[in-house]
Amino acid sequence: KEPTDINKLADEYLRLAYHGLRAKDKSFNAQLETDFDENIKTLNVVPQDIGRVILNLITNAFYAVDEKKSNSESKDFKPTVSVSTIKLKDTIEIIIKDNGNGIPENILDKIFQPFFTTKPTGKGTGLGLSMSYDIIRAHNGKLQVESKDKEGTTFTVSLPKT
Ligand code: ADP
Ligand code: MG
Repeated sequence: KEPTDINKLADEYLRLAYHGLRAKDKSFNAQLETDFDENIKTLNVVPQDIGRVILNLITNAFYAVDEKKSNSESKDFKPTVSVSTIKLKDTIEIIIKDNGNGIPENILDKIFQPFFTTKPTGKGTGLGLSMSYDIIRAHNGKLQVESKDKEGTTFTVSLPKT
């Protein structure tokens, strides 16, 4: 573990994921919103691991908004992914929010299981969330999800300050 600038890490991986997708698919677009709590100094974490979690969550979010866009009749739908951080009393939270497809209630309790995926073959391994869950647990943190079917999803990573 090493002292890590969480805001910088989140910003880097957001851009990395966005530009990576754009390079593969020129028509991909999404509005990116960020809101980083400047009071966060550094946090003692394994930066590659937390980076991977952020990347997994953001990639899932992009997929969800992109899928909703292709199924959406409404031209007014604006795919949006937001990443924010917030310093609380004992924890730092990283929040990744999308206005994509959402997760149906009957599968919410399965998404953290290894190899669970709703994506077509080749598009998903079903390992992203289970890996992320393990990484956050190894940091004594929490990974939580809130979702409304058809409206969107919010994942919250909560990491202890010490
Ligand atoms: P994969 O992305 O390879 O399918 P994950 O472990 O990352 O595997 O996610 C498991 C499943 O959880 C996805 O297939 C999808 O059904 C659901 N999921 C995860 N994140 C989101 C999201 N932001 N919006 C909607 N569904 C999601
Ligand atoms: Mg994934």
